[in-house]
Amino acid sequence: MNGAERRQPGTPESKRSAVVLGAGVCGLRAALTFARAGWSVCVIEREAWVGGLAASPRSGGNPQDFGVHMLHGFDEELRDDLVQLMGEEAVEVPLNAEIRWRGRAFRYPLKFSDLLVSLSFMEMLGGVCGLAWTGLRNRVRPPPEPSNAEEALIQLYGTHLYRLFFESFTHRYWARHPRELSATFIKSKMPRLSAIDAVRRFLRRCGLPIPAPKVESALDDEILVYSRRGSSALPEAIAREIIRLGGQISTAATVQTIHFAGQEVRQVSLTEGDGAVSTWSVDALVSTIPPAAFVEYCQPAPPASVSAAVQALQYRPMVVYAVLLDRGPVTGCLYTYFRERRFHRVSEPRNAGLRVSPDGATLLLFEVMCERGDAFWEGHESAWTQIIEEARTEKLLPPEATLLHRDILRNAEAYPVFRQGFEPNWEAFRAWVKRCPNLRSVGRQGGFSYPNMHTAMRQGEEAANSLIEGE
Ligand SMILES: Cc1cc2nc3c(=O)[nH]c(=O)nc-3n(C[C@H](O)[C@H](O)[C@H](O)COP(=O)(O)OP(=O)(O)OC[C@H]3O[C@@H](n4cnc5c(N)ncnc54)[C@H](O)[C@@H]3O)c2cc1C
Repeated sequence: MNGAERRQPGTPESKRSAVVLGAGVCGLRAALTFARAGWSVCVIEREAWVGGLAASPRSGGNPQDFGVHMLHGFDEELRDDLVQLMGEEAVEVPLNAEIRWRGRAFRYPLKFSDLLVSLSFMEMLGGVCGLAWTGLRNRVRPPPEPSNAEEALIQLYGTHLYRLFFESFTHRYWARHPRELSATFIKSKMPRLSAIDAVRRFLRRCGLPIPAPKVESALDDEILVYSRRGSSALPEAIAREIIRLGGQISTAATVQTIHFAGQEVRQVSLTEGDGAVSTWSVDALVSTIPPAAFVEYCQPAPPASVSAAVQALQYRPMVVYAVLLDRGPVTGCLYTYFRERRFHRVSEPRNAGLRVSPDGATLLLFEVMCERGDAFWEGHESAWTQIIEEARTEKLLPPEATLLHRDILRNAEAYPVFRQGFEPNWEAFRAWVKRCPNLRSVGRQGGFSYPNMHTAMRQGEEAANSLIEGE
């Protein structure tokens, strides 16, 4: 329908209507929540496929995930619902990963016994004493609010473990020293490895009836959900259900304008993938796209202070170097962390059940942090050479193996960067959104946060429910 205003085709005018921006797992879950509540819903996605970070576009005959993308089982109710939607496509996989450091492989989730034999006596003593002292001191005299990520990490783990594990790793990951990052990042993202939690987990493994600590942690064993078709099977299953319930998903679409009347969103205009222009009347809008992109569409524009604030919010880009080898498996685990390489994690999804073509071949996905426009982002030959050489050093590429295909996946908004002082900019946007009763901005991009897929989906669901209930 060109240029015309519409609601969901064939639906009565009385039916309430929602638009969701972004077809990542957060936006899809929000849209499913509207559709299940009987609303008419349209999802607008700029890419030609659904899934966002959890998509697996095909290349060289295989689906390529954006690095590791498997559903955690911490939220059982949500997992059961998703497994039902995925049907036979869902594959349950025990977590089996490694960390390579100082020429050794540590099991992940971390095992205390591995640490005992791998660290020197003095390192172990320093780490355990630091952790115990920090825990005790925090209980007796709660520390002041940390003023940056370095202080927050030391308050959590003690100075010794901070220097041993976190300082250089955090610096390399974010291209900023922990002193330049906000304490909010550590407080909201890092699992709390307190001495007491570690001991409680150890005793549980010995069979003692100790309640599990409530924190999702790198010390937990778990069962992940994946698929033989790659990570996109999950978002695609949600998308199918939205369409089955009468919803619409417009991929390769471009938002033109979000029209406000007073504080309320009233219409969304878009250009569909086939060039058709349409306008949707909305009772509710959920945005899961970056705030800077969102405000560009708003008519009238938000106050200049809000537009300036969102421009200051930064994301860290990431690329995935995908390599198809004629033989495998190579690693024997789902993924491996590297602390001293240009890539920080390498996954081998065949070990999680991915069907790789041709038979017997394996796919390795190298996750590499970078900046837009640098050699790694662009995929220059020098970058490929470094990745391949370091992979050979780590024995990830057997000398006799033939490289059948290689490709690069890019995402400019992989990780929100919690720089020192980002909070007022984020708050300015959040406060403005809060004044609009029928608008929510959530998810990894829209909520400027670090959810896993299950938490991103819960954010989308909660946003939709609050709009349905008119909270
Ligand atoms: C490398 C990596 C590995 C991860 N591994 C795991 C894992 O194993 N398990 C796990 O649970 N979580 C994992 N996560 C986290 C998980 O991917 C995300 O938290 C989750 O996918 C976020 O979903 P989202 O919908 O909020 O955002 P996104 O997936 O980023 O979706 C946003 C969507 O909005 C679209 N969009 C953006 N701008 C516009 C625009 N202007 N107009 C229209 N559409 C637009 C994008 O194309 C995208 O589809 C990982 C994250 C990364 C970066």
